[in-house]
Amino acid sequence: MLGNEAMALALLENGCRVASSYPGTPASEILSSVARLGKERGVPMYAEWAINEKVAFEIAYTGSLTGLRTAVSMKQVGLNVASDPLMSAAYTGVSGGFLVISADDPGPHSSQTEQDSRLMAMMAKVPVLDPDSPAHAMELVARGYELSERFGIPVMLRPTTRVCHACQDILPGEVLPARTEVEFRKNPDRWAATPGFRLELHRELAGKLDAIARWEPTAPVRLNPGAAGLRAVVACGVAASHAREILAGSELWRSVPFYQVVQPYPLHTAFISRMRESYEEILVLEETAGVIEMQFLDRMRVRGKATGAVPEVGELLPDAVERIIARFAGGEAGGEGEPAPAKGGRRPTLCAGCSHRASFYAIRKAAPGGIYPSDIGCYTLGLNLGVVDTVLCMGAAVSQAAGFYQAHRLAGKTVDIVATIGDSTFYHAGIPPLIDAVVQGARFVLVILDNSTTAMTGFQPTAATGSGASGEPRGAADMEALVRACGVGFCRVGKPSRLTEFVALLEEALAYSRGGGPAVVIAREPCVMDRSHAIRLPVPVRVTITDDCTGCRHCTTQFECPALLYDEAGQRVVIDGLLCTGCGVCIHVCPLEAIRAEEGEGGDGA
Ligand code: SF4
Ligand code: SF4
Repeated sequence: MLGNEAMALALLENGCRVASSYPGTPASEILSSVARLGKERGVPMYAEWAINEKVAFEIAYTGSLTGLRTAVSMKQVGLNVASDPLMSAAYTGVSGGFLVISADDPGPHSSQTEQDSRLMAMMAKVPVLDPDSPAHAMELVARGYELSERFGIPVMLRPTTRVCHACQDILPGEVLPARTEVEFRKNPDRWAATPGFRLELHRELAGKLDAIARWEPTAPVRLNPGAAGLRAVVACGVAASHAREILAGSELWRSVPFYQVVQPYPLHTAFISRMRESYEEILVLEETAGVIEMQFLDRMRVRGKATGAVPEVGELLPDAVERIIARFAGGEAGGEGEPAPAKGGRRPTLCAGCSHRASFYAIRKAAPGGIYPSDIGCYTLGLNLGVVDTVLCMGAAVSQAAGFYQAHRLAGKTVDIVATIGDSTFYHAGIPPLIDAVVQGARFVLVILDNSTTAMTGFQPTAATGSGASGEPRGAADMEALVRACGVGFCRVGKPSRLTEFVALLEEALAYSRGGGPAVVIAREPCVMDRSHAIRLPVPVRVTITDDCTGCRHCTTQFECPALLYDEAGQRVVIDGLLCTGCGVCIHVCPLEAIRAEEGEGGDGA
């Protein structure tokens, strides 16, 4: 099973009855697997793709207040969005077991940051468990629920990409009988605590953490009790898995005591004292921040990120772990400091036939020299086309567009600003900044790239899809009505594959925005990779390159469809028939009109 699938199975087997999430790599498959496996096994439960991580957190958390076991899953930057309820939920506590699964992405492979969710757990003051493999993550789901219910506290499970996306043989177990009856015991002093009571809750929380730091089932484990030496290695998560393999395969297994930490925060107090008393030097291996290291409070003895013995950024890959251990065991002070090797390979690009490419090309035509704030999604790849100037975080395209406008207005300058945001991202975090832009009179064009799915993370439904996590019918949001309800005076829908018309629509929107207020253009065309879409794809056109092609490369560099290839031998462009979807948009791109529909072909894009 994939790690995410294994965690989903563990949630079901351990009685999770409410699960919610917002898609984000590397965590996306947890919720989809919960929904699928729950349906297959006939588990009575509720699974939801929420509109964002804050809402997902609040849905699952509230389920736990009724006594049910619940879970919310997200990627690490999603936890930023959910941090508000997380901080508060630590104080108010839980009734049923509540797991917060926040998947980290050291590397980072598909994230804006390498942030360490364990630091968020420390800040919120909730315990965090750090699995080293899919099977270990399953074990920690069970342990996490036990911990959560015993101490009445949310528990974080922090898998990393290598755990989420690893595959391991898993023996499915029984679905344990779990509570299904629901009872919300009213207690406003706790659930609706005012600041005075919050102080009391904070004291209570400190007491819980103190007890959790002494709770035996999550104590660090010594894996080679026979080893004798004054230098010890402490590791957690995937770094522990690498270190175990490296040490067990060498003589060091007998001379370097090795400890695995499963609960990096709060670190067990007895363990801290024992380590300080027993060893002259302690090497700490962990991704990505020095969470264990800082709890030792011992700069003299501990070797890690603060001393330069372990890199502060990037993944701890097996080669690096081996080098670090060899240096440490050989008595070298450290200075590993080498970051993970730079990745090679071709740069990522939008798929052949992707309607986002047409939208970006049109934006550049309509607003050359403009400022182009963008957002989080596959359309971030518009930066290859020179139409993505900023990417900050979910929803920021809209506020950054407003920010650019206000700054230029202050300086008495005018500039065309065209922001892009995906449909799912718009629902997630784009609506409040759009209301703000209307209220503050910001002038820009917002293009909502509506491909009717959450494409980058695996085609999860959006708020407008009208189906739930298992495909069951659900309500659907109305994007145009929402945009108008924000107060936007110009809201029009266009098809980017009809390039000429779409450029004209953008020009109209720009003219409106220059006169006052934001204008919204909804670029609506389904994702070419999503076979489940209800919306019709443009009729394919068979496209050919004529002898008029001079090989100027305008189409390959400015439009960059992967199906357009430059043929060095022929010194002209050819079409890769396997990749070409026949969207026909490139017909409008060649300045010499050398790209044409074949005889008798028309199509939507022509
Ligand atoms: S197809 Fe047109 S744009 Fe592309 S290389 Fe040939 S002449 Fe240039
Ligand atoms: S028709 Fe042109 S733009 Fe569309 S996929 Fe084929 S080569 Fe790419």
